[in-house]
Amino acid sequence: MASGVKTVPRKDWKRPSARRVASVRERLRRLYGVPVIAPHGDPLGELILTVLSQSTNDRNRDVAFLRLRKRFASWEEVRAAPVDQIEEAIRPGGISKVKSKRIHDILEAIGDPLDLEWMREAPLEQSQQYLCALPGVGRKTAACVLCFSFGLPDVPVDTHVSRVATRLGLLRPGAPFEELHDEMTALTPPDAALEFHMNLLRHGRRTCHARSPQCATCGLRRLCPGKLH
Ligand code: SF4
Repeated sequence: MASGVKTVPRKDWKRPSARRVASVRERLRRLYGVPVIAPHGDPLGELILTVLSQSTNDRNRDVAFLRLRKRFASWEEVRAAPVDQIEEAIRPGGISKVKSKRIHDILEAIGDPLDLEWMREAPLEQSQQYLCALPGVGRKTAACVLCFSFGLPDVPVDTHVSRVATRLGLLRPGAPFEELHDEMTALTPPDAALEFHMNLLRHGRRTCHARSPQCATCGLRRLCPGKLH
């Protein structure tokens, strides 16, 4: 739950109006612009990158990913390698013992062909279900794969997005992650998933910090029921 906001029971929660959500999106756009990130079309790479992002910063994640790609010529080679070799390659990303096993297990579970390109055209729900059935993969990772690889309308809800959106009154305080993802995706126009995710994330990193949100100078203050006085 976002700090400073009390849990609201599901029966007492009313989804914000589309107009209100659009006002928040518009305000964020004025503050941060529209991110120019084209979907990269590499779902398997995104899946492994997201596993590597757990409990570390972007830099260490990227170093670990690049080392993995350099060490092995293909994902098939990663899958066939002893887990301790994967672990050695991704060590800069932290908790490498856990992550190497997870990466290996995911690649094994996908089987052959070792490819997720079919998700580009598949129904969103089918892809979500497939990804969430892989070892250690949850809704956020699935949303990262679908949104960043193909631009599909699934909004990744990480700790920043959930905190900021909850304080702004878009998400029910205390909602479980499954509900947060369903709600964010329901609130977001299909072509705005990436933008909304990126701008809420930016706002969480720059202004709406977990412990000390900068409410006095926040550009969304007038729209925010969770602001601190
Ligand atoms: S007013 Fe405060 S709580 Fe609301 S979005 Fe801004 S920083 Fe976060």
